[in-house]
Amino acid sequence: MGLNQEVGDAGAAQSINASLSPELLGRYAGPCPRYTSYPTADRFTALAGAEPWSSLQQVDSLSLYVHIPFCRSLCYFCACNKVITRQYGLASSYLSNLLQEAQWYRDRVAAVPVVQLHLGGGTPTFFSDSDLERLLAGLGEIFDLRAGSDVEYSIEADPRTLELETLGTLQRLGFNRLSMGIQDFNPAVQQAINRICNPEQVRTLTERARERGFESISYDLIYGLPGQNVDSLERTIDTVLALAPDRIALYHYAHLPDRFKAQRLISCDLIPSPMEKIAMQLTAARRLTDAGYQFLGMDHFARPEDGLAVAAREGRLARNFQGYTLMPADALVGLGASAISYSRDGYWQNAHRLKEYAAAISARGQAIHRGWQLSADDRLRRWLIMELMCHLRVSKGELSQRTAVPFTQYFRADLARLQPLIADGLVEETQTDFVVTERGRWFLRNIAASFDTHLHGACSDARYSRVL
Ligand code: SF4
Repeated sequence: MGLNQEVGDAGAAQSINASLSPELLGRYAGPCPRYTSYPTADRFTALAGAEPWSSLQQVDSLSLYVHIPFCRSLCYFCACNKVITRQYGLASSYLSNLLQEAQWYRDRVAAVPVVQLHLGGGTPTFFSDSDLERLLAGLGEIFDLRAGSDVEYSIEADPRTLELETLGTLQRLGFNRLSMGIQDFNPAVQQAINRICNPEQVRTLTERARERGFESISYDLIYGLPGQNVDSLERTIDTVLALAPDRIALYHYAHLPDRFKAQRLISCDLIPSPMEKIAMQLTAARRLTDAGYQFLGMDHFARPEDGLAVAAREGRLARNFQGYTLMPADALVGLGASAISYSRDGYWQNAHRLKEYAAAISARGQAIHRGWQLSADDRLRRWLIMELMCHLRVSKGELSQRTAVPFTQYFRADLARLQPLIADGLVEETQTDFVVTERGRWFLRNIAASFDTHLHGACSDARYSRVL
């Protein structure tokens, strides 16, 4: 498809049917936060006596996140908090730290069901099956873990190293969702990112996970990787579509070698140009929606019958640090190095580096390093941004109820920032609502950013990844 041509796909039922020109995509391609939290984590500071975890006693439901940072080899594109090692001893002592940290929450959190558990990394299945069992048993002593289809227990898996037996262990432990990092199936791209993964491995794992009753299988794909082009990405999409995962995340690769050391191993010459990336994004999204996937917004696609797609249609979608979820909880407890927690009152984040995390846990049972106590204005904007990201609209009536002065006065500067996006057809202002248009779903980050006072009070936006 020519890059100067308007791109649309009116044919598919769940299509991205707004026309998107490369010029429009280019205009909004700059750095912008992803808004898994508000304020975004880069704003967190020393808590200086504030204790946002104190409201964990007043919640009705809880999410739990456990960060397991170990990986056996380095993927050159990686921007995660990970530790590359082949020494299992490190993982064993980390597990002890995690269980000790969980104990710190014993008297601080209400005895309420954990509706969402997520093990992320790194590679959570770096833990042996017996250590995964030890982890879940230890967590179960503190938190109310319960298996079933009314909870979402998920794990990130590396298809290169996930053993079939481990799928059985995970199922017995109550996991019902599996997320696999695929990135790209093209051998040259895999070589360039040092991540060789055979599609047959993925096929076998997908089939076995389905046989074992995993309710949702998700693949992560990345566009903009070194050596990738529209044709190679299309071939990856062909393979992915044949495997029919329930959910697909299509992420943009942000090449930031100054920030992420691993990325210095990638030759800049191999990085596709911004226009090539735009073509890749449009092609991949068109192929997925043509195949029946529903575009949820923010890089996420799901089969129409998947719970996430149903929740999106019914206006029940929520968002947390793992992206979209259909199990919104009142608070999230994050365990492990760099993990972030939140409550009604704010956020708190653990020390990033393994050594600092372990030392803090040994010294005081927790590793809280920084965070943010929400002001009334932060709460209002957090609600507003989540409305836009999850429900694609915000009601003027509700805005009025939440502000002491007319909302047009309260949000005067924000609404002025929104005007160009309205002019570009990304947001529509009706009598009663601000509505994200079909076209605007591609630019949710930009739309949300209009209401981010912390961002607009800052000197620089260079720390965020580019939208494209
Ligand atoms: S991409 Fe995943 S498996 Fe690869 S180094 Fe990063 S965290 Fe580890």
